[in-house]
Amino acid sequence: MIESKACTRRDFLVFGSIGSLLAPVAHLFPWWKPKDIVLADGRFQIIRTKHPKRHYILIHGDETTARDVLTKHMETHPGTAFLTESKTRNIPIDSGQVDPNRIFSRNGAAISLQKNNPNWNARQMQDALDLIEGQRDRFLHEVMPHHGELLVALHNNSEDYSVNSEAAISDMRSLKQPDNPHAFFLCTDPGDYEILATSPYNVVLQQHVRAPDDGSLSRRAAARLARYVNLEVAMGDAARQQEMLTWMEDHLPFVS
Ligand SMILES: [Zn+2]
Repeated sequence: MIESKACTRRDFLVFGSIGSLLAPVAHLFPWWKPKDIVLADGRFQIIRTKHPKRHYILIHGDETTARDVLTKHMETHPGTAFLTESKTRNIPIDSGQVDPNRIFSRNGAAISLQKNNPNWNARQMQDALDLIEGQRDRFLHEVMPHHGELLVALHNNSEDYSVNSEAAISDMRSLKQPDNPHAFFLCTDPGDYEILATSPYNVVLQQHVRAPDDGSLSRRAAARLARYVNLEVAMGDAARQQEMLTWMEDHLPFVS
């Protein structure tokens, strides 16, 4: 059992189940579409509709409002969605855990691994960083849309995080609902910002972030000049998240 787990982790780094076997030669089978994808020792289910127009991701497993909203949204909107199978915020890695939204830079991954696994030795830390390093590009290749399409990430927050946490380090901000700071869009593309700023909702642009790279997906998207929208609402506020998602769908172009 241990041997098979080690094999899955070390040799077939990214795609899950049967995908594990095909991942190293996936480029030979362009028609093959994996049903899930592995990150650290966690797994993301992939939902594909016909004629996909956008990419969506639920990266934090404990954000259940966002999971419900996205799952329902995929019944009526063409796209490809990546949903973590974890029920907790962090995902497993070796004997420990890591925040999946901090592993998109080596520095961000190291900080999250240290924070979550204070008892690890240097070898464990190095192995975990190497594992993530080997998975990152393929995961991003799969999750990031190509040809100017949009990646939408759905999140839920609580007391300690809101648009006020992001406003100061953003390039631009439009705070139409200052009394409702937990609901906001964070985007990386100036064209998308211009449109979202006409909405009745809070929005910030983070194309060039004035803060150290924290390894989040939004920073990686900005660095790649990719279109990315992060839709945050307070946990439990499904109606608002659905409303904002619908506004976004009705106004942002499929391709920039
Ligand atoms: Zn989150």
